Amino acid sequence: MHRLCHSLLSFGWVLAGSEELCGSRWWRRAHDGLRLQEPWSAPCPWEAGGSVWGNVRVPAESVERSWGGDEDIIITIELERSGHRFYDLDPLAETTFAQLFATNGARCAAPRRAALGAAACSRFGAGADLSGVSDMIGNKFCEHPEAKDARALFCRYPPRFYAHAGICRQYAQFCPFEELKSETNPSHIDLAVVNVDAEMFYALEECGAFKSEFWIFKVFVHWCPHCQQLMPLLYRLALRLRQAKVAFLRFGAVNCATEHALCSEQGWLGHPLLVAKYLGPDQAVHGAIEHWIDVVKDAQLRQMLPRYALPGEFPVLKLLLEHLPTNLVPTVAWADLFEAPPGPSGACPNVTALHPEHPTSMEDFVGNGWHDVERNFTVRRRMTDALIMLRHIFQEWIAPVGDDGNVEAFSYRQLIDIEAWVALLIRNLPEAFAIQSFLRELHRALMIRVRAAQTKEGSSLCANEWKSLTSNLLASINDVGQKHFAFPSACASDTCRMWSLLHILASEGLRKERMGLESRPAQPHAMLSALRGFIDHFFKCHYCRRHFLRQYEEGSYGRQLAEESYEELVLYLWRFHTAVSTRVSALHSCVDSDRRWPPSSLCPSCWQPSDQSALWEVLSEAKAKTKEGQPTLRALEMSAMPNEAEILKFLESSFSEQMELQT
Ligand SMILES: Cc1cc2nc3c(=O)[nH]c(=O)nc-3n(C[C@H](O)[C@H](O)[C@H](O)COP(=O)(O)OP(=O)(O)OC[C@H]3O[C@@H](n4cnc5c(N)ncnc54)[C@H](O)[C@@H]3O)c2cc1C
Repeated sequence: MHRLCHSLLSFGWVLAGSEELCGSRWWRRAHDGLRLQEPWSAPCPWEAGGSVWGNVRVPAESVERSWGGDEDIIITIELERSGHRFYDLDPLAETTFAQLFATNGARCAAPRRAALGAAACSRFGAGADLSGVSDMIGNKFCEHPEAKDARALFCRYPPRFYAHAGICRQYAQFCPFEELKSETNPSHIDLAVVNVDAEMFYALEECGAFKSEFWIFKVFVHWCPHCQQLMPLLYRLALRLRQAKVAFLRFGAVNCATEHALCSEQGWLGHPLLVAKYLGPDQAVHGAIEHWIDVVKDAQLRQMLPRYALPGEFPVLKLLLEHLPTNLVPTVAWADLFEAPPGPSGACPNVTALHPEHPTSMEDFVGNGWHDVERNFTVRRRMTDALIMLRHIFQEWIAPVGDDGNVEAFSYRQLIDIEAWVALLIRNLPEAFAIQSFLRELHRALMIRVRAAQTKEGSSLCANEWKSLTSNLLASINDVGQKHFAFPSACASDTCRMWSLLHILASEGLRKERMGLESRPAQPHAMLSALRGFIDHFFKCHYCRRHFLRQYEEGSYGRQLAEESYEELVLYLWRFHTAVSTRVSALHSCVDSDRRWPPSSLCPSCWQPSDQSALWEVLSEAKAKTKEGQPTLRALEMSAMPNEAEILKFLESSFSEQMELQT
């Protein structure tokens, strides 16, 4: 996060007439190499009395203080006098810290493959009967602590939702399909997609399975909505191919929630992914795979993912299948599965266009794509979701991603981003969460690592150390959850919970700022920067992450204003969220479902009719994604402009307990 410095200084570091970046740079003391960082808000160095001066931060914990504050102190230091420099700019400081951190991180135990015996090959190798093994591995996936409630339906193959009448009633895509209903061979049902854990994956690799079979692995976690959406589509395709006696193409599923070490080691970051494994002699198959990679992966994806890992989108599979030799995978077995357009009745992902109270569902002027139960979502229920999300973040999401080559240790950049994220939670979580003291304890431990990382000796943070650093916090989250948040969740997915958390953090920032409370919130720009860093490194939804970062860098939805004020920040996240919801609707051609929020049934004053030709900027991505020849999205047709002052009030009452409207 940098600001432009407009002061014109004649010194070497800040060139006359140029606009130099100031803020967050490192200065290195000439006589002992001590490094000090500028605060983000620092003015550029200035001249006074024949010297050059600059502001730097002194870490909070190295300052004796009587008033108990926990902020770094900003002091002014003399950088240069009469041509003699006491400090020099150190543009490589961060790189040096990162390198040293990575070097020290190498001592964290590397994951070891269990030695494979001959027995493993007869159990897992090509042609082995995998029925019992797949079932056992599937059960292991589902023993994961987060595989509860609705998520338990998505933790393994065959998917469990086919036995669940309720979910089928609500979402058509999760109902049993014809081929499944008529299938009588249990091995087809059980092994259409094989559950694969680390041991089995290595065995498949080392016992030669990939030489005679082409495996596609779906890499997933059971709480990710896109993984859930892909599950019935992939399963139907896989079962169809088995029924058509296709033995060459196999499907496996790796649940990274339990197979974290394998996923990290393979660089399978983000979910869902499709990973191709074929080491056999058939050049036509290799050609199809290479073509697949070429057409699907843009430069950014190539950088982010290992060569044979692709985004887990169902239509992406078609691009592979149509290039595989038809004698191996006949077109008739799969082609029609890619034809059916998603219909409006429950096939739109995440669209809750269900209005039991208003069956016509056309009553709302704006926002008919939200369920009537929205009106029962109290702030406490949303907080329950945010708390569940926090547990999930600390337990599952924050893990080394191997960005410096070691999946058992965090990188320096990750450490900095975790520290900023925890600092944000300390400042912006409402007191009702009652976990602040544990967050502070964690923050202190992190700051010790950060400071140590910025010394000559450096530091590191191993994955298993993180587990012990967070154990008290996780216990306290469970405790608080049971005591104070025994409310039904308002969300069906973790991305929904993530939104709840973000809106709550911003709304609490606004409340504190308004009330002028002594415990101040993070500065809006600091909240955004912490959020960006967190999403960049730890948000486990690939699409979401990619889209978020792109829009963030482009400054869409009013980011610049959001850096300056909490009112704007609260509205910024609301705009962002609306843009995502409507864009996803457009992508899936859910034309009848308007995902602008809040629906006017909940907040009539939030929207006012507008001229048909006026396009609300936030909907421009949805407009761009509307497929040619498709009917226009309802949100685009029913023109309305938001009344942001009213929306702000509504957001505050939805996400801040102390602003909640009493009804
Ligand atoms: C940062 C981020 C980026 C994402 N990017 C993508 C993406 O690129 N592609 C994709 O497919 N999915 C993306 N998602 C996921 C997507 O936004 C939804 O979370 C998911 O589709 C589940 O939708 P849902 O129906 O449960 O409701 P959600 O959209 O998750 O909403 C949860 C709840 O928040 C409230 N709400 C709804 N809209 C707003 C709003 N505008 N402001 C405040 N509150 C609101 C409602 O009460 C709603 O029930 C992203 C999620 C996050 C957190």
